[in-house]
Amino acid sequence: MKILLANPRGFCAGVYMAIDVVDQLLDICGSERIHVFHEIVHNRHVVERFRSRGVRFVESIAEVPENSIVVFSAHGVSPAVRAEARAKNLTAIDATCPLVMKVHAEAIRYAKRGWQILLVGHRDHQEVVGTTGEAPEAIQVVERPEDIPSLVIHDPEKLVYLTQTTLSLDDANIIIRALKKAFPKINEPPTSDICYATTNRQTAVRAIAPEAGFVLVVGSKNSSNSVRLTEIAMNDGTPSRLVDDASELDPAWFEGVDTVLVTSGASVPEDLVHGVIETLIERFGGEVEQRDVFDERVEFGLPGTLRDLMREKGIDPDTRRIRIDREADTTAWLERKHIPNRTVQVSIRESEQ
Ligand code: SF4
Repeated sequence: MKILLANPRGFCAGVYMAIDVVDQLLDICGSERIHVFHEIVHNRHVVERFRSRGVRFVESIAEVPENSIVVFSAHGVSPAVRAEARAKNLTAIDATCPLVMKVHAEAIRYAKRGWQILLVGHRDHQEVVGTTGEAPEAIQVVERPEDIPSLVIHDPEKLVYLTQTTLSLDDANIIIRALKKAFPKINEPPTSDICYATTNRQTAVRAIAPEAGFVLVVGSKNSSNSVRLTEIAMNDGTPSRLVDDASELDPAWFEGVDTVLVTSGASVPEDLVHGVIETLIERFGGEVEQRDVFDERVEFGLPGTLRDLMREKGIDPDTRRIRIDREADTTAWLERKHIPNRTVQVSIRESEQ
């Protein structure tokens, strides 16, 4: 079997930062209990690994004892949650991805000017709940073009759309086109809200999937960007499945398939991808071809609230950045496992982006 391994895949800068935040807190807070509001990132293994180290995940601030430490997840929270945390005198460490914060800031800015905001996204997703909370009176969520007729618009000239950061580019474009048709004067966000990591992972799948008979996406079912990767492959005609780890692989999927594309969502630790590759190679033999589509070098620093807490504890935050070099890791891992492998650079035409 030939395994095509998409680069980039796995952890994005926001997820690295959010995981780093909890790691650092576990390190500096000793026996003090760390509470995380919602899953720090949408990956079952990441959450279970932190839980086994004593982290408590909560779905409401009411569950957090007064004067404790609470971390807000990468998906962001609404101002109401921040206010609740303040009222309980919690030390709140905000691990919201800066690219989610950018959408919050846009929502606040437009709402202050008296504009109405159409937020394209999944109503129940934590990120959309958090963004909507910034200006609930100004924001209406649009999940599908079918939602458009029931929108209540006061002034079509003071209207803007924003989007969730992890949508499928294709699905978002369908909804945006429908919005522009219904409201020709609707404004766009200053720059796309769909983040670089989502865009790059989707573009890589779209470029490579036509060569594969099957696309395996490693990721959890509640990870929006992971689910979108399977949809992109299937929309382009390649069967695809989402698995949390190698234990969920079904040999029947690979009957008659000689080339498999493996990728992973932005919240997936690379060792889970290694587990999938190892299982495929054990069962079917073969080789790995890493396909480098984009070179990602985005990094986010630790949040200011955590840096302040570190200084209070006498720790210089600038000396405490964890950085994992994923690509070098996987190449070294393949070599150690004696799995035949090579790396191929892929150039993407603008029309494919
Ligand atoms: S997927 Fe994008 S928005 Fe979400 S954490 Fe990663 S970089 Fe931030």
